[in-house]
Amino acid sequence: MREIIAPLSQMLKNREVSSKELTEKYISAIKSDNKKYNAYVSTTFDKAIKNAEKADEMLANGTATVLTGIPMTLKDNICSDGDLTTCCSKILEGFRPYYDSTVWSKLKAQGAVMLGKTNMDEFAMGSTSETSCYGAPLNPRNVNHVTGGSSGGGAGAVCANLAAYALGSDTGGSIRQPASFCGIVGLKPTYGAVSRYGLIAYGSSLDQIGVLANSVKDTATVFDAISGVDSNDQTSVDFDFGNISDSLGKNDVKGLKIGIAREYFDGIDSEIKDAIDGAVKFFEDNGAEIIDISLPVLKQALPVYYIIACAEASSNLGRYDGIRYGYRPETFNDVEEMILKTRTEGFGNEVKRRIMLGTYVLSSGYYDAYYKKACLLRENLIADFDEIFNTCDVLIAPTAPNTAFPLNFSDASPVDMYLSDIATVPINITGVPAISVPIKNDSKGLPIGMQIIGKKFSEKTILDTAYFYEKNAEIGVEDFEGGAAL
Ligand code: GLN
Repeated sequence: MREIIAPLSQMLKNREVSSKELTEKYISAIKSDNKKYNAYVSTTFDKAIKNAEKADEMLANGTATVLTGIPMTLKDNICSDGDLTTCCSKILEGFRPYYDSTVWSKLKAQGAVMLGKTNMDEFAMGSTSETSCYGAPLNPRNVNHVTGGSSGGGAGAVCANLAAYALGSDTGGSIRQPASFCGIVGLKPTYGAVSRYGLIAYGSSLDQIGVLANSVKDTATVFDAISGVDSNDQTSVDFDFGNISDSLGKNDVKGLKIGIAREYFDGIDSEIKDAIDGAVKFFEDNGAEIIDISLPVLKQALPVYYIIACAEASSNLGRYDGIRYGYRPETFNDVEEMILKTRTEGFGNEVKRRIMLGTYVLSSGYYDAYYKKACLLRENLIADFDEIFNTCDVLIAPTAPNTAFPLNFSDASPVDMYLSDIATVPINITGVPAISVPIKNDSKGLPIGMQIIGKKFSEKTILDTAYFYEKNAEIGVEDFEGGAAL
């Protein structure tokens, strides 16, 4: 897959192009292509040009880093001071936060140029980005199909070269699954590896900010820049990852112990199974040791996820009352009616469904039967994953049981939509890191993704493994031409 960040950075440093010119190129690509893909829901072009001018100063005075002057985008649930951030929900219509998320302030300090906010499922609830109040983003690989979700706009923007990279959030697969559907790379870091300060909460014990990019190297470069402990996020962890992007390519996979859990392959599309089998064979041919394992508790991951995520969402979304943020109805008789109308008119159906489910599983009559049981099962899943990583360095699995759905599939069956999250949610439940990399196209020409999963804080191992695959295997997913491509 094509590396974008380091070559662009080199061009900027060689003065072959200025950051302002590069930013203008991306802006004109967005102006012409966003109509086709609906990847961006708001743009910050004037600010981007100002930031590009600042980046050009950094390039001139020797304070530039590899990310200085490179245009990128944030998902519409990551706050940046003064810019629309709406979670693609009517209830946050017009909301402009007055502070920067930690990830954005880190990138801004390095001279990154943010082009705007990208489309997503409302409050990150969904797997197609179709619950967005701005309408769904369309998959650049085939516009009759969804980008996946919930970080679908970011995946579409990166795939179509409307941003060099994107930050998204992943609560149950929302970075990895759209990366897989659009044929790009997506990293969900270890819970706590990247600060969540300024990420609008969905399920706080599962939410994690991560990276969508064109290549493993680009992904590592951005992860290096955004990871680290943060006093504004008490769940962030002080762990020294070193500089992962510089260290890539130094290791091969000889002796790497790769676990394959057979339960991961139950009910998945046979083309996807064959593609993953081919990738596993590639690792085996290159000296990795393949270990068959069993993970029976995987079957419980979906109900555990939907109970815990909805419970946390029902609490997190209690703050949208028409008083503090965004949307408020025009007429009401008293405060109670105002809150009721705000939430009735402001939230979409999927969000309401999850708030109701979450409230139900937390109610005193059902707490023990559902929420408490889900928390206990979560402990079992964590213990099983710990056990696996005592014998395996990484696990390999499909990213999703299917390739990109045709448009409107989620309207027909919300439950089928939930079931399609089976491969990604265990990673959030257990807090471990995972990366999705493209391997090949299916017979419809839609990309298939593979997940490489590691133990907590093993980002270097999974990025190294993914990099080895990207550099040495035959990847059957083409780089996308168009947009602001190099
Ligand atoms: N598809 C999952 C859901 O609908 C994951 C969403 C996410 O990771 N934000 O909840």
